[in-house]
Amino acid sequence: MRMLMSRFDRARRNWIAGFGVFMLALGGCVSPQGPADNAAQRPRNIIILFADGAAPVQWDFGKRSSAVLRKQPFATTDIVFREGTLGLLSTQPHGAYVTDSAAGASAMSTGFKVNNGAVSITPDGKPQRTLMQAARAAGKRIGLVTTATVYDATPAAFSINAKSRRDSQALVDLYLALEPDVMLGGGADYFLPAVAPGGKRKDGKDVIAAFRARGHTIVRNAAALKAAPGAKLLGLFADNDMDFELDRDAAGEPSTADMTAAALKALSQQSPDGFVLLVENENTDTAGHHNDAAALMRALWAFDDAVKVALEFQRRNPDTLLIVTSDHETGGFSPTYAAKDLSSLSSANRLYNADEQLRMLERISMSFDRVKEKLGKNPSGAMLEELLAKHFPGFTLDNDLRERLLAGKTLERNFSYVLHNVLGRMVARQTGFYWGTSGHTPEPVPVGAIGPGATLFHGYQDNTDFGRHLHRLLGR
Ligand SMILES: [Zn+2]
Repeated sequence: MRMLMSRFDRARRNWIAGFGVFMLALGGCVSPQGPADNAAQRPRNIIILFADGAAPVQWDFGKRSSAVLRKQPFATTDIVFREGTLGLLSTQPHGAYVTDSAAGASAMSTGFKVNNGAVSITPDGKPQRTLMQAARAAGKRIGLVTTATVYDATPAAFSINAKSRRDSQALVDLYLALEPDVMLGGGADYFLPAVAPGGKRKDGKDVIAAFRARGHTIVRNAAALKAAPGAKLLGLFADNDMDFELDRDAAGEPSTADMTAAALKALSQQSPDGFVLLVENENTDTAGHHNDAAALMRALWAFDDAVKVALEFQRRNPDTLLIVTSDHETGGFSPTYAAKDLSSLSSANRLYNADEQLRMLERISMSFDRVKEKLGKNPSGAMLEELLAKHFPGFTLDNDLRERLLAGKTLERNFSYVLHNVLGRMVARQTGFYWGTSGHTPEPVPVGAIGPGATLFHGYQDNTDFGRHLHRLLGR
């Protein structure tokens, strides 16, 4: 035995020594691909693809559901995380353990911790330079894409500075001052005066007209976006947030992939110094808040289709740094097993989360949010049954859950959406797709990067490191 071990050790020593000589011999031909050099490279373009509320469990759920139901690879995990540089970011904000999206994006945009709710302004009241401001200063064109309102916390914190994420009208004014070359998403309400259909502005201004006057092509639906020729684009496809992919009417609202393709087409025109683009899918976060596993699954697929579009661009333009990441986990998502009924808690009476449970999710054809909308303020039991039978085949709402839902009673103090969270528990009991909260959790988030500068993102870092690396890559 000892002899065998020592022979093995000797062989291993020889192999390592031999490999060292081989590496030395290769010398300069190996080092250009090495980590130190990659970190020093400056990308011409930066594309950040951001699935709000997605942490390892959401990414893995995207990968597994894609493989089982779509029969296709999930580009985020199978290409970007697997072939690129992979790191993890801790997410806590200033003064708390669990972050909101404004504080998370502020740290990633500026490199500084801020309080929850603040938009790239530190607790001392100082506005910190955002990623898009640094990009503009470096001569790059800038673009924001989201399924939320374009003035929502994430795109706002990556671009502008404000004391509160809630002051929507002021945020839109700051966008007009910054004039991003491309902005695509929802949120026409705070661009239009209250007298206009869907408008909510109290000062009577028409900010869409102001963008048009500055040379932006304005688009309001999927077909117009596809045909838009300009290098400067403002696309507002909903008065407020855009729809969940599960509910989306493809003739009205474009997909995240469509918006990404349009943004890349516009930004790569007239851009001698390149561009920085942020693409966010906010529905991955909202589905988590709602504990809606079917809506989350479709949102993850829609996001991943956008990653595929960006990867294709990166392959044709290898001087582009492509990053896939997020700000925090939402919902305490916990796929696990469940007892089939309460007759016995023994393992013989368990359903294990497997392919059939994914197929049950696939058969769901309406988001919980749409169910709430259909039911209105005073939900009736009969209408609820009708919607469940039609859109949630194979699911039954247990009596205790039906009572809670119709009485408007929450599951626990950390569940803030009664109807959504109760329906989430219905789905969980029959599939094992459980949730721990309707809020955010402090789970660290992966960051995957491909292209010049990618290796900076390796290892377990802080979300402020992420921001600092980007500013360094912009030379600002
Ligand atoms: Zn959230």
